[in-house]
Amino acid sequence: MDFEVSEELKMIVDTVAEFRRREMQPLEANFLKAGELPIPEREALEAKARDKGLWALEVPEEDGGAGLGLLPCALINAELAKCAIPFAFGGTPEPLLNFATPEQREKYYFPVIRGERRSCYAFTEPDAGSDVQGIKTRAVRDGDDWVLNGTKIYITDAHRADHAFVFAVTEPGKGAKGGISCFIVDYDAPGFKLGKRIRTMGDDRDPYELILDDCRVPAENLLGPLGYAFTLGDDQLTHGRVVLASVCLGLAARSIEIATDWARQRKTFGRLIGEYGAIQNFLADSSVELQAAEGLVLKAAWMHDNGKKIRTEAHAAKLYATEMAQRVTDRCIQVLGGIGYTLDSPVQSMWRHARVKRIGHGTTEINRWMIARAMLREQN
Ligand SMILES: Cc1cc2nc3c(=O)[nH]c(=O)nc-3n(C[C@H](O)[C@H](O)[C@H](O)COP(=O)(O)OP(=O)(O)OC[C@H]3O[C@@H](n4cnc5c(N)ncnc54)[C@H](O)[C@@H]3O)c2cc1C
Repeated sequence: MDFEVSEELKMIVDTVAEFRRREMQPLEANFLKAGELPIPEREALEAKARDKGLWALEVPEEDGGAGLGLLPCALINAELAKCAIPFAFGGTPEPLLNFATPEQREKYYFPVIRGERRSCYAFTEPDAGSDVQGIKTRAVRDGDDWVLNGTKIYITDAHRADHAFVFAVTEPGKGAKGGISCFIVDYDAPGFKLGKRIRTMGDDRDPYELILDDCRVPAENLLGPLGYAFTLGDDQLTHGRVVLASVCLGLAARSIEIATDWARQRKTFGRLIGEYGAIQNFLADSSVELQAAEGLVLKAAWMHDNGKKIRTEAHAAKLYATEMAQRVTDRCIQVLGGIGYTLDSPVQSMWRHARVKRIGHGTTEINRWMIARAMLREQN
């Protein structure tokens, strides 16, 4: 394994760091007070990123992207996440589209790269989150169409999307092995409705409900093989786990930076708090845990970029980095004392951001379960 960062990649990460400092940090104080970045400001930020070539980073160069691997993208995500505003460079189509037909690529892949369309990923339902095989949304063939009925919940970015990747049961009783399919549902499809915003404890980017009420989708909008969407979704989730874990590196790094600065200047009982062992332990443990998480995330990303399967490595990186970010942001709030709990503090926002990372893309418990299952399989 070689995590040596090339000169070219260093320059890209430096450009991202500069973008964060110049374009994002000035918006952070208002973001923290308001709890969200208004959509016009988000779009202006996206336009600036695009002007600087920070767009479609993971897309192959022959398709109009920057052709970066998962390791460079992990470093970039970590850098962006040092700002409390959740933000990612756009233009990278949903990885599920690796299974798209040429027609689907024309309609749904290239327009995302060109910044003309956005998508959302709709798996979760009121009765099924971790237990993915328990989804009830049903798709029934009717002539040249599929007719979908069901409700999806907690769908991120649904309010800004033009189409959704919807998972539905096409053959009841078969579960993952032949029973669940994925459909690309256009927002103007008959019977499709964006449901209510689901208010959460996180700043910005509340998820939404999607309602499919006799929603008609043309047969050509089936994505991948009929009945085997579960395997497509699994690949997407594996990739997403590493992305999500890399965000946690940035949340922890900035929180440690803020807490360390505070420990250098805040005095109690006539001494800097940084002189107390209790505070030093908070800082040292946080720094060591961040470095351990970096190791797991970069290893998984490097393996992926070198053509290796990373199912277990992605679970491990996601599990450790998300739990690490929660512990570290919590300790950093403790170092800051009362000021850490105020809305002016980026660290409290990051603590809430870290909280949801332990739930999405497979909860901590599901990640542990998957790692243990792989270990037990190996021993038999
Ligand atoms: C802000 C936010 C954004 C989201 N965005 C999306 C999105 O864009 N698209 C999408 O499809 N979904 C999205 N989700 C849904 C998310 O993926 C699910 O919430 C998550 O998978 C957990 O499912 P659940 O909420 O149904 O919890 P459950 O599956 O009901 O789990 C409840 C608890 O039981 C535990 N548990 C369950 N099974 C086991 C087991 N076998 N062993 C041990 N413990 C277990 C879980 O770890 C958890 O602690 C989002 C959620 C949130 C909060």
